[in-house]
Amino acid sequence: MVGVSRSQPGSPEGAGPAASVDEALALVRRHGGRVTSSRRLLLRALFDGQRHRSAEELAAEVQAQAPDVHPSTIYRNLDELERLGVIVHSHLGHGPATYHLASSAHGHLVCEGCGTMLEVPSDLFGELARRADDQFDFVVDPHHFAVLGRCRTCREQEGSGTDGG
Ligand SMILES: [Zn+2]
Ligand SMILES: [Zn+2]
Ligand SMILES: [Zn+2]
Repeated sequence: MVGVSRSQPGSPEGAGPAASVDEALALVRRHGGRVTSSRRLLLRALFDGQRHRSAEELAAEVQAQAPDVHPSTIYRNLDELERLGVIVHSHLGHGPATYHLASSAHGHLVCEGCGTMLEVPSDLFGELARRADDQFDFVVDPHHFAVLGRCRTCREQEGSGTDGG
């Protein structure tokens, strides 16, 4: 295993990338970014709410609290927070990209039949990543796109009788 460890100078409570609004803001500052009230609201929305929200949904949430913040400001903030490594986006199918905190990154399996989404640990893609690297000198990003397929319920409804198990 290749251990990628980064020292976290002055990280108050714990491991990995920003695990709280304050840590995320500290990260922004460390990278020379400004801490604005719209950024703070956006981070709070990301940390407090449920995951997998689109840029539009996040913008609506920030605007509910600060109606004078323009959506374009919020979209720019999303881009910047992503560049700083605080958040990541994933495409879960045909809809808009959704955002999560980088500290809770994971893979996604999405059913093309019913849209059900399963969150799966990143190491599910370990073998794929190893082989892509070894054989094709290609580094896979297992978070950016979901793996599409069919869930059990949809397969059963489609009544494919010749399932070899
Ligand atoms: Zn997710
Ligand atoms: Zn399904
Ligand atoms: Zn993308």
